[in-house]
Amino acid sequence: MIMKDKLLLDAFSALSLGVIIVDAHYRITQWNAWLEAHTGYAASDTTGEDFFSVFPDLEYHRVGDAIRQAISHNLSSLLSQSLHRSPFPLYAEPARPGARLSQAITIVPLGDEERYCLIQIVDVSAAVRRESLLRDQAHELLAQSLSDGLTGVGNRRYFDLCIEREWRASKRNNKSLSLLLIDVDFFKLYNDCYGHQRGDECLQKVANAMRGALQNPCDILFRYGGEEFCALLPETRSADAVEIAEKLRTSVQQLDLPHANAPDGIVSVSIGVASHCQKNHAEYGQLIQSADNALYAAKRAGRNTVRVKTTFRKFSPYARVTGGEIPPHA
Ligand code: GH3
Ligand code: MG
Ligand code: MG
Repeated sequence: MIMKDKLLLDAFSALSLGVIIVDAHYRITQWNAWLEAHTGYAASDTTGEDFFSVFPDLEYHRVGDAIRQAISHNLSSLLSQSLHRSPFPLYAEPARPGARLSQAITIVPLGDEERYCLIQIVDVSAAVRRESLLRDQAHELLAQSLSDGLTGVGNRRYFDLCIEREWRASKRNNKSLSLLLIDVDFFKLYNDCYGHQRGDECLQKVANAMRGALQNPCDILFRYGGEEFCALLPETRSADAVEIAEKLRTSVQQLDLPHANAPDGIVSVSIGVASHCQKNHAEYGQLIQSADNALYAAKRAGRNTVRVKTTFRKFSPYARVTGGEIPPHA
């Protein structure tokens, strides 16, 4: 027995952490009241027992290695909480075991001639819960700071971050990157006719329809500003980007939102497509400029249409894709 003093034994029983002492033969010599409360095993049942018979799952676990290191090599260990969250079967109420307590474990050698090993287990569940709550809140705040308040799609700040990241990835992996610039047609007239509030609702519906039309989770829709949106399509070549743009355009057309001041009577969008591949843009600002030029071409061509910036200068630099049924805005 290492502890003889009554006061020390009382303190040992009153500790609000788990304490196990094992001898050089891995027999449990001490088992405190905290462990009784959280394992459901009385000290009288475990004292004198082989540690690994009581905790068979820990024999080939980092805990087992640390105990052997303490006994054989006089080495201490602090088990990383993130790697070994709950090795011991400890519960708030062992009679009704739910989730295990989160544990911080230290294992230190004791004794000189006769070697012992002291295992201390601290319940860190409250700290882990608090940490996870703070992490969730931080994620939530980050998500809020990157999403557009009106439509819920990515905001301009998020777009700036994403295009830079995707631009670098496309260069590194030699993959194409496509960008769609999308503008709601005759939107000033929509506001004039229905009011700003209805205008806002219209933008929400347009954003939802386009978000629903983007099927690849890597493709992201953003509100670029005002009634302009954009979609970033990583690893997407021009022809596929045009197909996606066409899907977005149709998704808005199919909403069939009345627009009394538009030539064909419904809300529509015009889309400019540009793709970066084979080193045709030196920087991503040029990709945005190309998409913007294509959008301008779509507007000039009559709106509710998709135009793509091609690199074949022999022909028109803005290939007509579809749509364009609406006459140009006077
Ligand atoms: P075009 O077909 O050439 O794009 O014409 P347009 O009227 O859509 O373009 P213009 O740039 O002249 O007008 C854009 C309008 O979008 C003006 C502005 O009041 C409106 N707008 C911008 N942001 C918002 C918004 O958050 N809510 C509402 N309701 N309207 C907005
Ligand atoms: Mg605009
Ligand atoms: Mg517009």
